[in-house]
Amino acid sequence: MGEYLVKCVSCNSTQSPHAHVCPNDDSLLRTEYLSRQLTPRDLPGIWKFYDWLPVMKPLKGVGERPVTYKSQGLAKELGLENLYISFSGYWPERNVTMTTCSFKDLEAPPTIQHVKERGDNPVLVVASVGNTARAFAKAASLADQPLVLVVPEKGLSRLWITTKPSDNICVVAVDGNYNDAIDLGGQLASQPGFISEGGARNVARRDGMGVVMLEAALTMKTLPQHYFQAVGSGTGGIAAWEASLRLVRDGRFGQALPKLHLAQNIPCAPIFSSWTGSAVESQCPEGMYDDVLFNKSPPYDIIGGVKDALQSTRGSVYGITHKEAADAQKLFEEAEEIDIVGAAAIAVAALGQALESNAVKAKDSILLNITGGGISRLERECDLFMLASNLKAKPTDLTSNIDLLTSIREVLGSD
Ligand SMILES: *Cc1c(COP(=O)(O)O)cnc(C)c1O
Ligand SMILES: [Zn+2]
Repeated sequence: MGEYLVKCVSCNSTQSPHAHVCPNDDSLLRTEYLSRQLTPRDLPGIWKFYDWLPVMKPLKGVGERPVTYKSQGLAKELGLENLYISFSGYWPERNVTMTTCSFKDLEAPPTIQHVKERGDNPVLVVASVGNTARAFAKAASLADQPLVLVVPEKGLSRLWITTKPSDNICVVAVDGNYNDAIDLGGQLASQPGFISEGGARNVARRDGMGVVMLEAALTMKTLPQHYFQAVGSGTGGIAAWEASLRLVRDGRFGQALPKLHLAQNIPCAPIFSSWTGSAVESQCPEGMYDDVLFNKSPPYDIIGGVKDALQSTRGSVYGITHKEAADAQKLFEEAEEIDIVGAAAIAVAALGQALESNAVKAKDSILLNITGGGISRLERECDLFMLASNLKAKPTDLTSNIDLLTSIREVLGSD
C-alpha cells in the first residue's frame, strides 16, 4: 500500500492528499512517505518507484520510465569521467519508450492516478501547448480519464500522440496566445466538477519527475554531485531536490545533496534573472530556442520553491544563448547518436559553461537530465494520431463563452 501524508513545507500542517496549497501560508505542500527507504518494486515503468509516488495503487498500462546510463561519447568530448545521462524520450536500443518524448510523461500518469483516487471523478483541466498537453492526452486516453485540454489555436499542430485519443478528451482551441489559454483553463478549472492539474503545486507531478533522480541514484549507486536541467517553471529542479532529500534520508546514497545547475534560454529567462539579478527582457516566448521553456511566473519565491531548492543545494542558474544551444545540440547528437529537443540542448550547453568556469571538475559525478529526445526516431517508426479541436473559444473570460461549459460536458458525454 502506498502510504503517505501531504504536508506544508512551511508550517508542517497535514493537508488533504489532494490539496494544492497550504491554507495557512500559501507555501508548497510536499509528500511525506511512510517508507523511509526506497524499495524498487517489480512493476513496469515508473511504478518501480511506487513507494515514493503519491498513489494508493499503480495505474495499469501507462507510465514508462526514463533510463540512466554512463556516457561515453559526450563524456569523452567534454573530458568527463563520471557523466551520467538520464534520457526521457524514445530510444528503443536503450530500452526507453516514453512516446510523447519528454519527461512530462513522468508527470501525467501519477497525476491521473492521484486524481482518480479522489473518488469524485472530476474532469481534469490542462492548459498547455506542447509536451504537457501530449503527455496528459496520452495518459488520459490510456486511463480513460476525462480531460479538457485548453490550447492556443496555433499550437494544435503539435498535438500528436502515438495512441488513439479517447472520446474522453475535449480539446478547446483558444483564439489567442498561450497566456489566454492558461487564463481560460484557470476559469474552467474553478467550475464545479472540474479541477486543475495544479502545475508545480501538484505533488503527483513533482514526485513523478523525481523518478529521474531515483532511477539515477539506483544506477549510480549514489547521489550525483551535480544535476543539470533546462527549466521553464523550475518544477523539475524542485522535484530533483525533493527526491534527493528523500534519498539522503534513506541513508544508502550519500549525505550530500546534488548541486542544482538549472539552465534557461536568454533573453527569456525569468529564473536566471531572479537568481543572478540581471535584467529581464519580456519578448517571450517568440523566438525562443525551445518554447517549452517559457513560463512567465515560475514558482521561484514561494516557500519550498525554486529559490529554496537552489539555496539548499548551493546551486547555479545559467543563461544560454541560441548559438550556445545550437552548438551543444550538435555536439550531443553526434556524440550520443540520438536526437534531442531544444530544451535538452540548453542543459548540455550549461554543462559546457560549468566546465569552463570550473564549477564542475573532470572527476565529479554528474547527472545530465536530457528532458526530451528521440522525436525524429519516433516519427520514422511510429504512427502518430493528431488530436483535433472539439470546440473553439474566445480569448476572454468564461462569461463571454456562454455555452462553453455545456458544450464541453456534451463532448465528454456527461450532463
Ligand atoms: C517542461 C520541460 C522542461 C522544463 O521543465 P520544468 O517544469 O521547468 O522543470 C524541460 N525540458 C522539456 C523537454 C520539457 O518538456
Ligand atoms: Zn503551511
